[in-house]
Amino acid sequence: ARLRASNDPQSILEETARAVQASGSYTCVTLSMVDQITGIAAVKVAIGASGRRLAAVEGLEFPWRALDAQLTEQRTAASGAYLLDLLPFRSIGGELHVVLPLRSQRGVEGVLTASNARAQRARLDEAAPLLALLANQAVAVLEHSQLYATLQQQVVEVAETASHSREQLAHALDRAETLYQLVHTLARTLDEREVLAQALELLKRAAGAEWGGILLIEPNTGHLAVRHGFEGLSTLAMERLYELSGVVIAERRMLLVGDIRAETRWPSDEPTQAVLLAPLLLDDEALGTLVLCHGTAGAFTAEHALLARAGGDQIAVALSKVQLYRYVSEQSEQLGHTLQQREEEILKNHAILSSIGEGVVVADRRNYIRLINPAAEQLLGISAQHFIGRHIRDLPGVPQQPNEDLPNAPVQVALGEQTLHAHYAPVLAPSGERLGGVVVYHDITREVTADKLKSSFIATASHELRTPLTSIRGYVDLLLLGTIGPLSQPQRDFLKVVKHNVVQIVELVDDLLDASKVEVGEVQLRRVSLEIGELVYDVSESLYAQFAEKSILLTLDIAPELPAVMADRQRLRQIIVNLVGNACKYTPQGGRVEVIAWLEGDQLRLDVRDTGVGIARDAQANIFTPFFRADNPLREVAGGTGLGLSITKTLVELHGGRIWFDSTEGQGTVFSFVLPLNGYEWAQPAWLETHDV
Ligand code: ADP
Repeated sequence: ARLRASNDPQSILEETARAVQASGSYTCVTLSMVDQITGIAAVKVAIGASGRRLAAVEGLEFPWRALDAQLTEQRTAASGAYLLDLLPFRSIGGELHVVLPLRSQRGVEGVLTASNARAQRARLDEAAPLLALLANQAVAVLEHSQLYATLQQQVVEVAETASHSREQLAHALDRAETLYQLVHTLARTLDEREVLAQALELLKRAAGAEWGGILLIEPNTGHLAVRHGFEGLSTLAMERLYELSGVVIAERRMLLVGDIRAETRWPSDEPTQAVLLAPLLLDDEALGTLVLCHGTAGAFTAEHALLARAGGDQIAVALSKVQLYRYVSEQSEQLGHTLQQREEEILKNHAILSSIGEGVVVADRRNYIRLINPAAEQLLGISAQHFIGRHIRDLPGVPQQPNEDLPNAPVQVALGEQTLHAHYAPVLAPSGERLGGVVVYHDITREVTADKLKSSFIATASHELRTPLTSIRGYVDLLLLGTIGPLSQPQRDFLKVVKHNVVQIVELVDDLLDASKVEVGEVQLRRVSLEIGELVYDVSESLYAQFAEKSILLTLDIAPELPAVMADRQRLRQIIVNLVGNACKYTPQGGRVEVIAWLEGDQLRLDVRDTGVGIARDAQANIFTPFFRADNPLREVAGGTGLGLSITKTLVELHGGRIWFDSTEGQGTVFSFVLPLNGYEWAQPAWLETHDV
């Protein structure tokens, strides 16, 4: 019962030794324990005869094998005990020792010895069973105590594990708390400097770092650059940190350096010892690194590394958010700027359109009116309010089927008292895409009035000149006929010159009169059914003298059975006289002129070909312009006003026909015109086109 009271192996051994001593008063009782690993036995308790402790023996050690070797069969006593003369730790002569190994399931745990004088051998033999009993008890209790100790150890370990887990849990909680704070803080700012400053401050505090900083990859150069922190670090230390950051980014992993002073290149006077580097990763893209430093070696743990990694990820997310925000705000700023510019441009265009004197109307792609400037409102006598949104063809001067690729020919529009020039043109983008249309109105009332005044002045003046000229010509003819008396040859020659000049003036006056009549629109056609062939013969007869004088061969080629044409006899004759006369005038001596008439489709065509001086290329565009006379070798000899062709063109067009020419300088010219056979339905010339509003 006393043995069971304790769990301490030493007290169990002491109690056992005392019990043995009490059972038989021995000179020495010992209990030794064998180390299972080394095989060394150590005396744990030694008690002498009077029950005193034998300090000299306690603590002695001996190899168990030395004693075990003596436990032979010859030395056995009762109940598994042995009787020996000698013990490794006791050599007193005349003593006999009972030895009892303490056996458990594991093997020999220890050994019990009880010594007495040799003379007491019989008593020793007798005591063996009791000693064996006590030894067994001791083994049982020792085993029990060991079990208890193991159990206790396990309880301690379990408790430790539990406390470790609690600690880990607490760390994880701390980490979560720090990250929450980080996310929360970073979510509130869109300023990069603030993001970096706050993130570094929080992570430094959470990891207990003393200093640190953040390096970011510059988007333009691709190089790392300090963006925050690292105050007080030397250039050399920074260089090393750049290198380490490079490694961290390249390998996408953490770097925890317990004592960076072990690095040969780390400056020795630098106070930093522990360094922790984490990449700032957004998906797999590295934006930079987070660096934490501490002045004590080994200050950072794996725990801190985990925190830094998660923190680094959060910084990367916040940075990408900042960048996105910056990008979006830059874009919207640019957009705003562009819009403002466009608005200014539109306002400017509006201002220009409002202030110019020309009337401008702008239509969109679908030809609906979008803008009418004040000048257009005034010129057309309309209000923009009522016309915006209507079709552009509702306006005067816009062709019903306009050309949408090129500007259309300007049109003259009579609106009550005023005359306008309307010019419709498509608005095309540089790519050629049609954006809409624009009509520009120009008030030409004054010009038209002035023109009419000029024409009527010329008409009046020519008319007034013609009467006295006719009279002069008549009297000269009378003088030349000798009705007043015979004339000397010089008088006759002088009068001929006078007559020639008067004839020329009459021709000029006739042309002027004709031209002004045509211009004012006073020419009225008296259409009758005409044989063009007959007219051509008639003209060639009347011009015979001119051709004969210059020895020019005139041939006529009139197709047989040409249909009659509805035309004004006098005017058509004037047209042919002009063309054939010009061919004679501008063809040198001995040349050839050919008049050809034939039916071309439903039109009558007449060509006048000559082998004359031709018309220079740069003069060709102006041939039908009034008063224009091209430069050529016969210009002076031929004489003229430059009005003939312009009148001819107008007359052809009045008949609903068309006139043109083809000429090579120095070789000859062909003038051609066509007349419609159904002469009643004549197409009106472009300049006469009008619209009613
Ligand atoms: P003009 O009174 O000068 O003949 P026209 O109006 O009849 O006036 O002709 C205008 C100009 O056209 C002439 O001055 C001449 O230079 C040129 N022209 C007309 N017909 C011919 C032609 N058959 N050959 C060469 N040039 C011509």
